[in-house]
Amino acid sequence: MNHDQSHALFTRAQKLLPGGVNSPVRAFKSVGGEPFFVQRADGAYLYDVDGNRYIDYVGSWGPMIVGHNHTAVRQAVKQAIGNGLSFGAPCEAEVTMAETLTRLVPSCEMVRMVNSGTEATLSAIRLARGATGRSRIVKFEGCYHGHGDSFLVKAGSGMLTLGVPTSPGVPAGLSELTLTLPYNDFEAATTLFAEQGEHIAGLIIEPVVGNANCIPPREGYLQHLRALCTQYGTVLIFDEVMTGFRVALGGAQAHYGVTPDLTTFGKIIGGGMPVGAYGGRRELMSQISPAGPIYQAGTLSGNPVAMAAGLAMLELVQEPGFHDRLGAAAARLCAGLEAAAAEAGVAVTTTQVGAMFGLFFTDQKVETYAQATACDITAFNTFFHAMLERGVFLAPSAYEAGFLSSAHDDSIIDATIEAAREAFKVVKG
Ligand code: PMP
Repeated sequence: MNHDQSHALFTRAQKLLPGGVNSPVRAFKSVGGEPFFVQRADGAYLYDVDGNRYIDYVGSWGPMIVGHNHTAVRQAVKQAIGNGLSFGAPCEAEVTMAETLTRLVPSCEMVRMVNSGTEATLSAIRLARGATGRSRIVKFEGCYHGHGDSFLVKAGSGMLTLGVPTSPGVPAGLSELTLTLPYNDFEAATTLFAEQGEHIAGLIIEPVVGNANCIPPREGYLQHLRALCTQYGTVLIFDEVMTGFRVALGGAQAHYGVTPDLTTFGKIIGGGMPVGAYGGRRELMSQISPAGPIYQAGTLSGNPVAMAAGLAMLELVQEPGFHDRLGAAAARLCAGLEAAAAEAGVAVTTTQVGAMFGLFFTDQKVETYAQATACDITAFNTFFHAMLERGVFLAPSAYEAGFLSSAHDDSIIDATIEAAREAFKVVKG
């Protein structure tokens, strides 16, 4: 594969953009090598500036659930653009979006549109703090909720100790308010709440972890957290930026039958445009300004073009059987990958919830962050590049979930498995 044009662009980019990119993982730092630059995308494929084609399992990190450049979404955007790009005053599409979201995700009785997942989670935490009058929040190891200061925190030396910043620029005084728990550990959550429950404003979790590869919740785990939050008056926040409209039409909360107090969204609800949202119980949401005193605002929030793209996308995911078909395709892919790895003598296990999947270089069933980080990262990096050379783009990090779209038909999945057969042989050496 020739990458001359991508290399030339990356050289230019590195002079002016930190690391040559506008979001870190795109730089291929953890897998090594250089990123390719995309010229266009269509269906399940990305095409780079050197004319190479890749089957895409990143899907713009989630939004492209109906494949790239879908006609219906493109048409909706074209039509919206004809009426102007931004109004700074209310428009009908915002109301339709709110009606659609609250219908599809009933725990959201009211919603507020924002411009990214990061904004959604920041706002949800402010609301939890404002509504409870408490300061501390709980997050989980391996979960990512955007780059807000309160989330760039890891556990201190002991589980119940104060959080430590993972990035310079995050004040220790703030990170100390973030308590970190191991995901899928029932006992640790019980203990933390027994000791500090009355001080905890909100607990935020990716109901299926998609930022430490893909780790589904153990049976009853989300229910356990729900019960603790109810008992201690803590706001339970499901960060469904990845899982929303993907693992099921109603998101992970519908899939697992657990009702959070607040939910954050991103990605799919913008159809590829920069959009996020948060929503939840009316009693909480009506405390947001201007209805209530908790401030949150956005010049471009509810942007008419973004609303049009998101509404078109949400229309498509409501087609009967949409999620069943996607889930079946993901299961077929995972089974194929495991078989191909076994054939090559490489230890691999997979996880899958709907159209989200994980691939782990280990012989264990992965249920915890500690297990996910103990996998063979060198093997993943070799596999990633071997797949890329064969025209398959996986997320450029061992700690990201894979995403399928409805454009990934059987022949594309078979081609992926075929490429993996060869790539696992490369890993075996
Ligand atoms: N929450 C989760 C679960 C995410 O995966 C992400 C981004 N990958 C975010 C929040 C932040 O979203 P954004 O990048 O749109 O700010």
